[in-house]
Amino acid sequence: MTEEVRDLVVAGSGVAGLSAAVYAARADLDPLVLEGDEPGGQLTLTTDVENYLGFPEGVGGMELIQRGKEQAEQFGAEFQHGSIESADLDGRPLSLSLSTGETLRTRALIVATGASARWVGAEGEDELMGYGLSTCATCDGAFHRGDDVLVVGGGDSAMEEALFLAKFADSVTVVHRRDELRASEIMADRARDHEDVEFAWNTELVAIDGSQEDGVTGATLVSHPEGHPAEKYEAGEDVEVEEVDVGGVFYAIGHEPNTGFLRDTPVDLDDDGYVRTADADDAWATTATAADGVFAAGDVMDREYQQAVTAAGMGSMAALDVEEWLESEVAAPADSTGSIATEADD
Ligand code: NAP
Repeated sequence: MTEEVRDLVVAGSGVAGLSAAVYAARADLDPLVLEGDEPGGQLTLTTDVENYLGFPEGVGGMELIQRGKEQAEQFGAEFQHGSIESADLDGRPLSLSLSTGETLRTRALIVATGASARWVGAEGEDELMGYGLSTCATCDGAFHRGDDVLVVGGGDSAMEEALFLAKFADSVTVVHRRDELRASEIMADRARDHEDVEFAWNTELVAIDGSQEDGVTGATLVSHPEGHPAEKYEAGEDVEVEEVDVGGVFYAIGHEPNTGFLRDTPVDLDDDGYVRTADADDAWATTATAADGVFAAGDVMDREYQQAVTAAGMGSMAALDVEEWLESEVAAPADSTGSIATEADD
């Protein structure tokens, strides 16, 4: 283990982590940014970003990330491969065990680890992800000109993906496990009204056919009038099974926050694993978590807005909060258990 204790580690190199790094580096906190399992985060899966302030002509997601990284490096932020496998956040300094085998010690941590697309669990998905199976229509839709494609999900993302794919594909079928959409009325109406978008209700995908050479060639769908057919199929109940020829499958069934390493720590997570940051009543900082010295920003703590520009804003807030917190620590240092030393302790 290295004896060095850093002032700040930023976990995650998406837009929230980069923005935190720019602010922290300019404040001379010498942040170390752990790039994570998906360096650059979800923006690297996007083509044009049209709603990030300051780019009237739009900007490529990858370009925005690369420029953000350059900007942070220019002020002295350091970048390192790897992600946090487990963390001891009870004492001081905080101790982080990395996927690289290294252990880092730091006074403060900004968790900006984002969220990753959920997978269905269908047979064949591990082999075919990236080969005709995708979690990002914006990234991969253009590969499916003239194809029949499936979109799995019933929320706003599924509607958005279906409408986007309808520009390229011959037909788009939204496969939804119930007979009612979760999507907002406006998005649902747009999808329902589109002549190339169809719906397979009470239907789930259980297998995808194809190969890495040929891409996706087909899929197995199961349906049951009462919905949630896959669990009935797995339990051996009577469900309708259909083989369909398709050239692409897109998953749009939501995201999971990347917070596995926080499960056994004092950081408070909600039922879906999102970091709960302190609310205004009982905390001094918006991005502070329940663990002293640990702050969070971006999709990992935001299930509502999930926008690049809001994530960047929260990254800057977290860095400003860390700066203030570190200053308060210098004024009133804590012992290694995390308690603030008082005169009565002497
Ligand atoms: P979501 O609202 O959570 O919807 C996920 C959908 O996937 C649900 O219909 C769910 O079915 C289905 N699903 C979940 N797990 C599944 C599984 N294992 N197998 C099959 N289906 C499964 O997620 P989202 O669509 O990604 O949206 C997330 C948030 O971003 C929402 O607040 C949304 O409004 C927002 N958003 C907004 C826009 C926009 O306004 N332009 C675009 C995208 C996202 P059930 O309905 O049966 O649970």
